[in-house]
Amino acid sequence: MPTFAFLIRTGAFFGIFFGLLIAEWLAPRTAAAQKKSFRVLFHLGISIANSVILYLVMTWPTVSAIVYTERHGVGAAHLLGLGGWAEIAATIILFDIWDYWMHRAFHKVPFMWRFHRAHHSDMELDVTTAARFHIGELVLSGCSKCLMILVWGPSLWGLVTFDLLLNAASLFHHSNVNIPMALQDKIERLIVTPRMHRCHHSLHRDCFNTNFATILSLWDRLFGSYRWSRVKSELELVGLSSPRGAATMKIKPFLLTPL
Ligand SMILES: [Zn+2]
Repeated sequence: MPTFAFLIRTGAFFGIFFGLLIAEWLAPRTAAAQKKSFRVLFHLGISIANSVILYLVMTWPTVSAIVYTERHGVGAAHLLGLGGWAEIAATIILFDIWDYWMHRAFHKVPFMWRFHRAHHSDMELDVTTAARFHIGELVLSGCSKCLMILVWGPSLWGLVTFDLLLNAASLFHHSNVNIPMALQDKIERLIVTPRMHRCHHSLHRDCFNTNFATILSLWDRLFGSYRWSRVKSELELVGLSSPRGAATMKIKPFLLTPL
């Protein structure tokens, strides 16, 4: 079952990835400064290596945590007697809130920022950026997710559905597809849009530490970190003030970012 879930998750990721890649090619929001084929190879290479490591390192603790909570009735979902779609819906909402606060922690805690800045050092934003994460960040997230599993006690399918939505949302809001602002305004009432997340990656000081949500935009509104951004200067330059240039697309500096 875990291998089946892993295959569904990975298959959906690459399906949506290539779908959005074609959409970016047909209707890009901004012209790419870097060679697109290189961005695809560089970021997909990182993502595939990360997936293999995560599969080897995190599958056992994650599945063990799920099996333990199910066998012993541990976790709030079991205590509340939640099952079926109610449990899946509650798991998605709860883990989306967890993801929001983890993202805030990755910006706030200096040790965690060391890893997360590898994602933010990308000087362009497109669907490939969603595949650009340091393995250290993914392992830290995976460990905290195991703790969440012990506290909440979700089903395997609740977690798989959340993972599918999380990946789809991340690929979508990093994408460089030309979606009219008026339409993004409407979508943004429910989920995070590319415009909303571009502000999160912006170099503009007013955008710094805003728009942390991944799936539902509600959490930024609720916890006071939402920024509605349509000003061109806020959405122009993305990345970090340092590093910039060729170093941001080289594997050794990328892996050594936390140091
Ligand atoms: Zn961030």
